[in-house]
Amino acid sequence: MLVVMEAHATAEQIEAVCAEIRAMGFTPHPMPGPTRTAIGITGNQGPIEQAGRLQRLPGVSQLIRVTAPYKRVSREFKELDTIVEVGGVPIGGQGIAIIAGPCTVESREQTFNVAQAVRAAGAVILRGGAYKPRTSPYSFHGLGEAGLQILAEARALTGLPVVTEVMDTETLPLVLEYADMLQIGARNMQNYSLLRAVGRTQRPVLLKRGFAATVKDLLLAAEYILAEGNPNVVLCERGIRTFDDSLRFTLDLGAVPLIKQLSHLPVIVDPSHASGRADLVIPMARAALAAGADGLIVEVHDNPAYAVCDGTQSLVPDSFAGMMRQLARIAAAIERPLLSSVYR
Ligand code: PEP
Ligand code: MN
Repeated sequence: MLVVMEAHATAEQIEAVCAEIRAMGFTPHPMPGPTRTAIGITGNQGPIEQAGRLQRLPGVSQLIRVTAPYKRVSREFKELDTIVEVGGVPIGGQGIAIIAGPCTVESREQTFNVAQAVRAAGAVILRGGAYKPRTSPYSFHGLGEAGLQILAEARALTGLPVVTEVMDTETLPLVLEYADMLQIGARNMQNYSLLRAVGRTQRPVLLKRGFAATVKDLLLAAEYILAEGNPNVVLCERGIRTFDDSLRFTLDLGAVPLIKQLSHLPVIVDPSHASGRADLVIPMARAALAAGADGLIVEVHDNPAYAVCDGTQSLVPDSFAGMMRQLARIAAAIERPLLSSVYR
């Protein structure tokens, strides 16, 4: 349920509505808008029976039932786009943010090389995994804290904020010491204790869609984070499993404009894990921007043949730079600037 206040409603009237909502045993969430304040209500299971009491309070314009099962992430609840600030970089506004870097932090030299190259080409956030969720228990699982330290050094070197995956609640405090943005991977999208734990921080979260998750599942996973009090969530479409196994996953680009309608949260696309092939990353990246993505997360490696993980889908720095030049033109065509020091 959403209580929409009149444009001229006073602070006292808004507080009186909040007090009434609390008296009913629910939680009010006042959200000031450009013209009027709306007050979201959570804690109710189903329609609020005493809603008439709210309707009669001074300053109340109308009550709107939020029909979606997710509340705080829904457009019904909050009309205006959310902008998530990651180390000074806004994701979800007019500008398009390109995140790039290696799949995995392998060494200082590899991470610094890639970080400098992607920065020079216009990336605004550096990615890199220190804790890697791998399908096989025998694969390389990342450098752990040593990898986080390398990322922090790469940030100091380039000025780029870093996003890195947090795999469990045990390592969350450590990852929080280093990361500007916490990535929750596809395999962890429904790890509810982890979602709640990152929700109790205010750190930006990159929530990747599970490969067997519907759009509704993804939005409900995001709801866990918002429900704990962290509004800084960016959603990521990274491909799902379908009957077709020609590519690593099937990139569900229709989900991008759909989620933008259903939710106010920013949406980015990962064309690297979706296709699994470097030669398909650039066309899918172009399509993602055209479909309305607020950004991309792309894997880049200086020597993909020797990458410990995901070499086949990693772009070399030159191809990444070429892709950025094309993306700047696509962004201009849809009247959105590419955020970067290179493309202005
Ligand atoms: C990644 O981005 O490094 C990753 C493991 O992605 P996903 O969780 O989407 O598989
Ligand atoms: Mn990867």
